[in-house]
Amino acid sequence: MKNIVDNICAVRAQITQAAQCAGRAPQSIQLLAVSKTRQADELRQAFAAGQQAFGENYLQEGLDKIAALADLAIEWHFIGPIQSNKTRPIAEHFHWVHSVDRTKVARRLSEQRPANLAPLNICLQVNISAEASKSGCLPADAMALAREVAQLPRLRLRGLMAIPAATDDPKQQQQAFGDLRKLLQRLQAELPQLDTLSMGMSADLEAAIGEGASIVRIGTAIFGPRNYSSNPQESPS
Ligand SMILES: *Cc1c(COP(=O)(O)O)cnc(C)c1O
Repeated sequence: MKNIVDNICAVRAQITQAAQCAGRAPQSIQLLAVSKTRQADELRQAFAAGQQAFGENYLQEGLDKIAALADLAIEWHFIGPIQSNKTRPIAEHFHWVHSVDRTKVARRLSEQRPANLAPLNICLQVNISAEASKSGCLPADAMALAREVAQLPRLRLRGLMAIPAATDDPKQQQQAFGDLRKLLQRLQAELPQLDTLSMGMSADLEAAIGEGASIVRIGTAIFGPRNYSSNPQESPS
């Protein structure tokens, strides 16, 4: 199996190529390494290869790695479901949250964001394929939620995040990512400060970049397949 450093090089090349095909500047796309279920030393290897932004889905696991890697200047992104009674450590330890889907969570994050830190960067998670099982607000509710979040003093609303229904069909991938892009454009008419589309994972980053992704969230293509049995919180659905 290839190592983490080689994989990061390959993913960077893939991003550059997809950007060029779409007529976009490769530097306009940020690579977020999704490190759920990975050990701290695997993140260290990725960091040594120049990877600075890491995404975690599970709060306690993420906090453990933040503590273990406190000597590195890592930008930490929280990308998993949020329980409203567990917002404080997220507000205190992360730089970005991609998975805000309701006002209650946003209010608490704003109240709990320490005064000495920069405002917490926020993406609203949208259930773009309107799947019953998925988290995220419905597209029709995104505007109202964005208006409320934009008012909160300790948050900086940046844009939208989505995890479309899994499909191998590039046309369907493109459709879902295009829907998210158009939704962001509607929000930008009122909130021009929004600058972020967090979309695209290992299997669909080309389609996401073609539709305007500014952050791609890549796990498997960097770290290899996840070992689900070692993490009972996650099951391959
Ligand atoms: C796990 C995960 C990813 C990364 O998925 P890969 O297919 O491993 O690249 C991206 N975003 C979210 C929200 C995830 O939970």
